[in-house]
Amino acid sequence: MPAEAFDIVILGAGSGGYACALRAAQLGKTVALVEKDKLGGTCLHNGCIPTKALLHSAEVADTARESAKYGVQATLESIDLSGVHAYKDGVIGRLHKGLQGLVKSATAITYVEGEGRLASPTTVVVGDRELQGEHVVLATGSYARTLPGVEIGGRVMTSDQALSLDEVPARAIVLGGGVIGVEFASVLRSFGSEVTIVEALDRLVAAEDPAVSKQLERAFRKRKIVARTGARVAGVSQDEDKVTVELEGGQTLEAELLLVAVGRGPRTEGLGYEEAGLTMDRGFVITDERLQTGVGTVRAIGDIVPGPQLAHRGFAHGIFVAEDIAGLDPAPVRDHLIPKVTYCDPEIASVGLSEEQAREQYGDDVSTYEYNLGGNGKSQILGTAGFIKLVRSGAEGPVVGVHMVGARMGEQVGEAQLIVGWEALPEDVATFIHAHPTQNEALGEAHLALAGKPLHAHA
Ligand code: NAD
Repeated sequence: MPAEAFDIVILGAGSGGYACALRAAQLGKTVALVEKDKLGGTCLHNGCIPTKALLHSAEVADTARESAKYGVQATLESIDLSGVHAYKDGVIGRLHKGLQGLVKSATAITYVEGEGRLASPTTVVVGDRELQGEHVVLATGSYARTLPGVEIGGRVMTSDQALSLDEVPARAIVLGGGVIGVEFASVLRSFGSEVTIVEALDRLVAAEDPAVSKQLERAFRKRKIVARTGARVAGVSQDEDKVTVELEGGQTLEAELLLVAVGRGPRTEGLGYEEAGLTMDRGFVITDERLQTGVGTVRAIGDIVPGPQLAHRGFAHGIFVAEDIAGLDPAPVRDHLIPKVTYCDPEIASVGLSEEQAREQYGDDVSTYEYNLGGNGKSQILGTAGFIKLVRSGAEGPVVGVHMVGARMGEQVGEAQLIVGWEALPEDVATFIHAHPTQNEALGEAHLALAGKPLHAHA
């Protein structure tokens, strides 16, 4: 077959790859978008969207279970997992269809189904097709890792299998108290499982400010989710009825399900990256801040580039690369300004520097303020506890970090990222009026307090 020529060949049609294709097409570039599985990738089919649908079912279950607290007499009869999956798959199906329509209507994009391989810095081969690109963008994403000696199968699962459980386990062990671990622990607990999290570090969600970890651990204790922090796994075995986890130190835990959530690895093996001369580090592709690999015009985006593995970082990388190739000179994506949300109950949302990181950067010239959601009317109405913590550089500098925990706090991260991204002073934010009674008001009041004029809080 003769080679087909494009301005850009993109390997992988997940969040990063398809965002790059759509933006490049808008900018008049011809694109080949190569995907071996489904358009939309991990986020749409095995990650963000299905897990958040499960978390919503979990919230509905909790609302029914706790209804009497609000004077409503409802009972939770059972969790019908086939119904949960039908709802979740309906959401995925509609989004998938919409995305397919978008890509199809972009006539500059040639969608190529099949497994691609980087054959040279300008060529991707898919079966017997040779796609040549003036630019090649690698966007092959990540996979759920496991530990040496812990084989996935049967009662031992990663999030991939746990998304379509056909039975709620009576007891579940979650290995890893990071983002995936606490989200699944939250779902399983709401569905009725007894849940134990085993985390090697000394706290849950260790990438967050320590105050957030503490509050989450408190909230999980109230929900009777057991967190075994500072615990390492020595071995895992399973039989027909149960899985047994042996901890270092000799203690054993038993459950019907073990979910392994110890991080995601870059999907880069066997794709020709090393042979093409790319600089790799533990499977990740090393790039400069413009996401160039240093080999010809090859760029890498999303989860295969070291940094936070988030779908919205992938979108931002994809759009950045398309615009950079088109000569628009966009500003590089800055990882520390990317907002993060963990959708367990209670939710966690943050942007910018933790107190610790701020102290590393500014020395001891850092001030903080913690606004307790106890003073926020809407949070009281929702029956949630938590806080908003602000981190400021110096006594008079801008806000460099916002850390929130409490029901629905993910929705507040939008304003928080504008504050941190625009380097706002608390006094700047204090001039804006926040609607009453909203949880957003808590963000406003935290800034009022830091500006020295608290309303429902102490200075
Ligand atoms: P993670 O890195 O967030 O957490 C993994 C946890 O496992 C860490 O706390 C680590 O200390 C622990 N761990 C590792 N080895 C261990 C061992 N031997 N014993 C006990 N604990 C061990 O990874 P994850 O939760 O698997 O998530 C993967 C990626 O996916 C993350 O980068 C995350 O940001 C992303 N993700 C994001 C969202 C979201 O934004 N809401 C949701 C899901 C996943």
